[in-house]
Amino acid sequence: MTEYSKIYNPLNTFKIKGLGEKTLDKLRSMGIETLYDLIYYFPRAYEDRTNFKDIINLRQDEYAVVKGRIVGIENRKLGYRKNITKARVSDPTGFLEVVWFNMPHLKYSLKVGEEYIFIGNIKRGYNFQMVSPEYKRVEEEKEFKGEILPIYGLTKSMKQSTLRKLIEGALNNYEGYFKENIPAEILKEYRIMERERALREIHFPKSTKGAEGAKNRFAVEELLVLQMGIQEKRYLGDIANKEQYKLQDNKHLVKRFLEGLHFQLTGAQKRVVTEIYRDLNQGRITNRLIQGDVGSGKTMVAMIVLLYMVENSYQGVMMAPTEILAVQHYLSIGRIFEKMGIRTALLTGSVKGKAKEKLLEEIKDGQVDIVIGTHSLIEDNVEFHKLGLIVIDEQHRFGVVQRKKLREKGVLANLLVMSATPIPRSLALSIYGDLDVSVIDELPPGRKPIKTKWIDNEPDLEKAYTFIEKQLAKGRQAYFVAPLIEESEKMATKSATELHREIEERFGNYKVGILHGRMRNSEKDEIMGEFKENNIQIMVSTTVIEVGVNVPNATVMVISSAERFGLSALHQLRGRIGRGEHASYCFLLSNTENDSSKSRLRVMEETTDGFEIAEEDLRLRKSGEIFGTKQSGVSDLKFVDIVHDVKTIKMVRDLSKEYLKENLGRIENIYLKEDIKRKFMNIENN
Ligand code: ADP
Ligand code: MG
Repeated sequence: MTEYSKIYNPLNTFKIKGLGEKTLDKLRSMGIETLYDLIYYFPRAYEDRTNFKDIINLRQDEYAVVKGRIVGIENRKLGYRKNITKARVSDPTGFLEVVWFNMPHLKYSLKVGEEYIFIGNIKRGYNFQMVSPEYKRVEEEKEFKGEILPIYGLTKSMKQSTLRKLIEGALNNYEGYFKENIPAEILKEYRIMERERALREIHFPKSTKGAEGAKNRFAVEELLVLQMGIQEKRYLGDIANKEQYKLQDNKHLVKRFLEGLHFQLTGAQKRVVTEIYRDLNQGRITNRLIQGDVGSGKTMVAMIVLLYMVENSYQGVMMAPTEILAVQHYLSIGRIFEKMGIRTALLTGSVKGKAKEKLLEEIKDGQVDIVIGTHSLIEDNVEFHKLGLIVIDEQHRFGVVQRKKLREKGVLANLLVMSATPIPRSLALSIYGDLDVSVIDELPPGRKPIKTKWIDNEPDLEKAYTFIEKQLAKGRQAYFVAPLIEESEKMATKSATELHREIEERFGNYKVGILHGRMRNSEKDEIMGEFKENNIQIMVSTTVIEVGVNVPNATVMVISSAERFGLSALHQLRGRIGRGEHASYCFLLSNTENDSSKSRLRVMEETTDGFEIAEEDLRLRKSGEIFGTKQSGVSDLKFVDIVHDVKTIKMVRDLSKEYLKENLGRIENIYLKEDIKRKFMNIENN
């Protein structure tokens, strides 16, 4: 163990004043176990005594420190055994309501007419409210000499002053252990605050500017550990990643295939195919994310590259997250490929017994060129003769481990992952640092934009139904999506069944099918098949139709309780229509009163551009929880908000690349190296 790594040792191995068994326990319950944890437990806000927040400037969801006088206080019953204490607080700019629950004694201990400091979250009801804040009398708060006090997030049993003293003590004794882990030239060039000073400033800032500088430093530090780690692997990988194999570069089949299509590739499709060809022709193992909005024609790109690999003597696989989707790919891709003499097979959970044995043999012998399937492809007994390309559709449904397992089956681990959850490119590059990113940012020509309408009352709904009837009479088809119910598949099924009954009654002249997660896969496929063939005109469904399903004649979608869905889920769902030559219509049913739900529905009415929606989605979210980021090492960033710190993320990614290039892949700072090692051990063990 190096001297430096001592910072990750348990707290009880350090001498810090006031750190007894009890305190250790309390800290543990706050997730603080090591010296590092304690010193890196940063304040969530500051009480800037030179600058309290004016009531008039408060914002929703803000963690604020307000100084004001109590002008009134009262207790009220809130139903059985519940009680609410409301205080009216005033400062020179306005009034604020402050509330606590089940603390009736406060009415007597807080003094009307006195000045207090309140620290807490701001919520918006009819007026701004601060809910269950910490508070103290201005008079009493004299213990601390500085002007700006740190406010930590605490559990009940821990006091601000106790934690403050512990951290101060720890810093005094062990500051020197926290060696500078950002390379000196980076510190200098980007004017980043040094580590020791930043630790002081973040806990006990001399000015708000100092605290800001420190905050920025720790965001950079955290990102640097992640990005340098990723980029180092890439740099070294890239050097080795060329001329690993040599393809003949035959393109006869691809040409024939393209000539047989009744449309031209879009410019974006062509560009992405070229990007992939370039990797393959340099003998590089490709590892690429293909991002494209719903309906942008990602499958087409996958088909071309699969075909290309096959005619250059490799096998290919395509894995989809659901059986419905795998079957759909198999039917559309398989049909075309078989005609060209390419042997295509389907492997899903439904393939069993003798048939499966035979298929596995054929895959192993190389009699099958392309296998399309579900998770079943990952099973150990699936072996390939000469697998050269893996395509994963709707990648956010799969984890890193599944990707890796499939790659291990290949002689060449060429990987294309396809995602219809667009995220801004700069963010994608940072989140999926180990992948190259290609973007299909163009829809095939002639698509009519989907018209979307949010409906919040019965008369409008009736109008919509009349409209839908006309569409059906014209020969179009419709989806009705039942409310999202997360608690159980059983409940979701129930709600779909009820909706089915209702729709059957209302649209008696048409055949109405139902699709939900509790049906057997064979049943699902059958009913989807019927819908595709237009033997069924209306499909009532739970969200099982969310990904990938392609029925161009379906031009209407009605989504019940639309407020329950997130933006990206709504966008995915809506992507099931607008896939053909006819104009399409989406109705979002909701009588929500919730502001953020309303904003989402409005965004849906205003745009169909997935990238725009993704940006809105990021903006509307408070935390940075984004699809598919779980195992990327990004989702557990503590000092970075991937929604708001996009600029810093990009900066650190670029500077990491630059640094490695200049230093020929070597990281000179040994402390950074050690932190990287630790970080990636943690990511891989997750
Ligand atoms: P997604 O990117 O959502 O997976 P698909 O690959 O399912 O989209 O393509 C949607 C539809 O667009 C399919 O019916 C496909 O045949 C069609 N398509 C793909 N590329 C083109 C193109 N260049 N011109 C016209 N139609 C296209
Ligand atoms: Mg698709």
